[in-house]
Amino acid sequence: KVKARLGTEPKEKVTFADVAGVDEAKEELQEVIEFLKDPKKFQRLGGKIPKGVLLVGPPGCGKTLIAKAVAGEANVPFFNISGSDFVEMFVGVGASRVRDLFEQARKAAKTFGRGAIIFIDEIDAVGRLRFSGIGGGHDEREQTLNQLLVEMDGFDPQEGIILIAATNRPDTLDPALLRPGRFDRHVVIDRPDIKGREAILKVHSANIKLAADVGLEAIARQTPGFSGADLANLCNEAALLAARYDKEAVGKKEMEAAIERVVAGPERKSRVISPKE
Ligand code: ATP
Repeated sequence: KVKARLGTEPKEKVTFADVAGVDEAKEELQEVIEFLKDPKKFQRLGGKIPKGVLLVGPPGCGKTLIAKAVAGEANVPFFNISGSDFVEMFVGVGASRVRDLFEQARKAAKTFGRGAIIFIDEIDAVGRLRFSGIGGGHDEREQTLNQLLVEMDGFDPQEGIILIAATNRPDTLDPALLRPGRFDRHVVIDRPDIKGREAILKVHSANIKLAADVGLEAIARQTPGFSGADLANLCNEAALLAARYDKEAVGKKEMEAAIERVVAGPERKSRVISPKE
C-alpha cells in the first residue's frame, strides 16, 4: 500500500521572523494561529474558524514558507503534500493518500491536544474544475478531489485541523473547493515591493558577512520583479562568489554580480514554471 509522503515537522522551526515583506498576510493568519493553539477555547468564545485557507500568489513568494511558519508559531505539527504528487498515480491511490493524510493529522491533533496543519501545495493540480474532460467524474484526479471534499466536510472544527492550500491559479479551481466551509478564506501572497524586498534581503543576509559598502535598500531597488526565492538565491550566489574570490566579506560587487546571475540563471524557479502563470 502506498502511504502518503508526509512531511514531518521541519527540523528547524520556521516562524514569522523568517517570512518577510508579507505583513498583511501574517496579520490575516494570526487568527488561525490563535485557534490552532487552543481550538477548544476559541469555540467556547463562539469564534467561527475557517477550515481552509487558500494562499494565492506567484511561485517563490513564500506560500510554503508562511504555511510552515503558521505551524511553527502555533507549535502544531505540519503535514504536507503537493497536488502534483497525485497526478501520476494509479487509480484509487490518490484518494487513499488523502484519507491517510487526514487520518495522520487527526491522530497528531489528538495526541498533542492542539491543532494540526495540512498543507497542500499546488492544489490546482488536483483541484481543477471537474467534469471538464472525457471520462466525466471517473478519472483519478477527480476521485482524489472528491475524497478531499469528503474529508473537508467530515472533520469537526473541534479537532483543530486547518487546511492550507497554495495555488497561483485560483481561477482554475473547482468552485466546490471555494464554497463556505471549505477554502473560503483567501490570503494573497504577492511579489514583494521594494520595502518587502529589502526586508527579505535582510532575513537572507543575516548569516552572511556583508561588507560596509552593501546597502540592502539599493539592492532592493535594483531587483524589481524578484520573488522571495530569487532574493534568497541572490544572497547565496553572492556569498559563493565572495568565497571564490577569497573575500573577507560579501561586497557590493558580488551582490551586483549575483543579481545578474539570478536574472540569467537557468534555475530561476519563477521562469521555469512560468507557463503556468
Ligand atoms: P511555490 O509556489 O514555487 O512552491 P512558494 O510561494 O511556496 O513557491 P516558497 O517555497 O515558500 O515559495 O519559497 C521558496 C524559498 O524562497 C523559501 O524557502 C525562502 O527561502 C525564500 N522566500 C520566499 N518568500 C520569502 C519571504 N517572503 N520571506 C523570506 N524568504 C522567502
